[in-house]
Amino acid sequence: MAIVTSRHTGPQRTQAECCYTSALSRDATFCGDCGKPLMRCMAAEECAGLLDDRGLCTVCVTPYLQVDAGALTVAKVGGAVALPMSIGNLSGVQRPLFVTGLWSREASGPWREENLGWERLDAGESRPISVVANQIERAGAHGLQLLVAMASRWRWRQENFAFTANLTLMVEDGSSDKGPVVNIGGESAGHGNLVYISGKSDTKPTHQQSDQAVPIPLVRAEREERRLGLRGLDADKWVPRNAEFSWQGFGEGDAPFDGPILTQDGMLAVGRSRTRLQGGEGDVRMLVFGASGELDETSSLLISRRHFELYIESDRLILRVTAGSGLRVNGNAYGEGKVVSLADGDVISPLVSAPDTVALRLSFRVEHGSARQIIFQRLPQIRK
Ligand SMILES: [Zn+2]
Ligand SMILES: [Zn+2]
Repeated sequence: MAIVTSRHTGPQRTQAECCYTSALSRDATFCGDCGKPLMRCMAAEECAGLLDDRGLCTVCVTPYLQVDAGALTVAKVGGAVALPMSIGNLSGVQRPLFVTGLWSREASGPWREENLGWERLDAGESRPISVVANQIERAGAHGLQLLVAMASRWRWRQENFAFTANLTLMVEDGSSDKGPVVNIGGESAGHGNLVYISGKSDTKPTHQQSDQAVPIPLVRAEREERRLGLRGLDADKWVPRNAEFSWQGFGEGDAPFDGPILTQDGMLAVGRSRTRLQGGEGDVRMLVFGASGELDETSSLLISRRHFELYIESDRLILRVTAGSGLRVNGNAYGEGKVVSLADGDVISPLVSAPDTVALRLSFRVEHGSARQIIFQRLPQIRK
């Protein structure tokens, strides 16, 4: 384990400075200066972070990748070069990162999974990985691509991400009987992702080591995230964190204003409690009413004050059951603590024994695979 050097800078800001200042106030939902909605990280309580437009908190998720100093720079002809690299966590707020997968490939070849044997990366820590580049005997440029899957966790929640990194291995004079020489760092360090392999090894010792680490830029790979099932509903459909929630058929003040989830923890609490708008602790109030619109107190008491929670995690709309009595989604019963990913057309029934008494039906408005709007229709509709 190495200590991260000061050469690496802290998290980059992805929103205007005024928004971070406004977000320091726990109850703020919009920036007091520019009016932009404040999309907080699930761990905002600890990181005070805001999400970028693709759902990433740069305070929590600040990985870096480098080819380590001390890499062997001589390889045999026809052999493979094992590049000693390391992945580090630059989080300034002591948030651990979890490296959940690592793959590599040459050019457009198939991904090879690398076995890491570890997962957790504490803030300020870096851990080694080794990536093998095969078939380096041919002269010319060899592309090597890495794919890293990472997760940020907060209580029971987890946000998954994938990043790619590209290296170019330059091979000269592969016919040399001494074998190609891999130069890491030096002149190429300024380019950040160029590893130089030269066959002119006559004057060099057989075992040579690089003396400089080469940082390799990590680029967010959202298509790979969906292909790997790390984010989204499937490869072509996802629910972005800024999707607009729209509430239909509710009584006055029983549902929040239409728009994205702007609570401090990024969750909406649904149940019998009065809403924040009504001076309570809930976000969406669900009670049972009789045929002529009168409150059915007995049935309403079967709905917990906080019956379930709604939030967006890894580009999916998630329901988490918090009621001891459970609930139904599309007729299937789920008990307390169960987590369900919701899709277009789903129906949530809070009362397991009387699912038709009161329910919520979802419909998604999708643009280019992205659910821009999610409509929650209360069934039956409240008569005003
Ligand atoms: Zn602002
Ligand atoms: Zn965060």
